[in-house]
Amino acid sequence: MTQQFASDNYAGTCPEALKYFLEANASGHELAYGEDRWTTQVCNQLRELFQTDCEVFFVFNGTAANSLALASLCQSYHSVLCHELAHIETDECGGPEFFSNGSKLLVGKGENGKLTPQIIDALVTKRSDVHYPRPKVVSITQSTEVGTVYTVEELRAIAAMAKRHHLKIHMDGARFANAVASLNVHPSEITWRAGVDVLCFGGTKNGLPIGEAVIFFNKALAEDFAYRVKQSGQLASKMRFISAPWLGLLENNIWLKNAQHANHMAQLLHERIKALPQIKIMFPPQANAVFAELPLPIIQGLRAKGWHFYQFIGEGGCRFMCAWDTEPATVEALAADMALLCQQG
Ligand SMILES: *Cc1c(COP(=O)(O)O)cnc(C)c1O
Repeated sequence: MTQQFASDNYAGTCPEALKYFLEANASGHELAYGEDRWTTQVCNQLRELFQTDCEVFFVFNGTAANSLALASLCQSYHSVLCHELAHIETDECGGPEFFSNGSKLLVGKGENGKLTPQIIDALVTKRSDVHYPRPKVVSITQSTEVGTVYTVEELRAIAAMAKRHHLKIHMDGARFANAVASLNVHPSEITWRAGVDVLCFGGTKNGLPIGEAVIFFNKALAEDFAYRVKQSGQLASKMRFISAPWLGLLENNIWLKNAQHANHMAQLLHERIKALPQIKIMFPPQANAVFAELPLPIIQGLRAKGWHFYQFIGEGGCRFMCAWDTEPATVEALAADMALLCQQG
């Protein structure tokens, strides 16, 4: 299949990650369930990357990472504050509620897919009686579901409000790398140094074959997390095949380079299409996605030409997502097709 823009998980495994996958395979027998040296090495390298002692776990996918992380922060009568477009709300089939035995998600509406301290304050102070699920966690997605990025200042302001209300902070970092690349900051600046307690660091969309890291900066919260991972069927017995590929991402900062490339491709697409008369860009493209409102005939024309992209936000909203391997020529071809359809329309 030719390159597409539906999701960054359409892309395969980057060569650096694949190299370590094969090395881990060629190294003979290994201890199981994460006791192996590859897993130990990756955990240590992640601690070095974040410049702090943290607890690291590996799971198969982002839904499990988010759901189990949130479950570890909540009792069943607690609530999680998140944006109405948050993946945990719209795309995890109730996983966070299921794994937390009923913790409720309370959603806020914020511009550009982001929560603000005011929204958090309003959700918390709305009620204080026992009939309302007690707010316990703020969940933020970085980069967001609409391809925007929280700045360091925005995160710090959210953390200050969270602290005031004794809330923990969870970060859905399915596209964390893209946010770091976009902001050009040290990864610690938008995580524990900004008050984040637990980060779900996405590997899959960044170029791994499979797997996400759950990183507890607040180590006390990781107590018993290993049991949650096992109980939910997320503990890989041949853990090295999930962990070792991370070495390929971490060596020479490939994770960042992959994200920078994907972000650049989104910028290129934005440059090419932003001036087309029938196209309205919906959100500032700060990471690896471009969201655009297109007239129906143009959407149909693009689909007829074989392009894949998602339409899940509002009427006519199209998401074009770039990956670590998206080629400039693919972006140019899509942009050219859009321009042509605009002319014909
Ligand atoms: C892709 C994604 C996830 C993880 O999804 P899985 O399909 O469960 O791996 C989580 N959050 C966001 C914002 C995502 O885009």
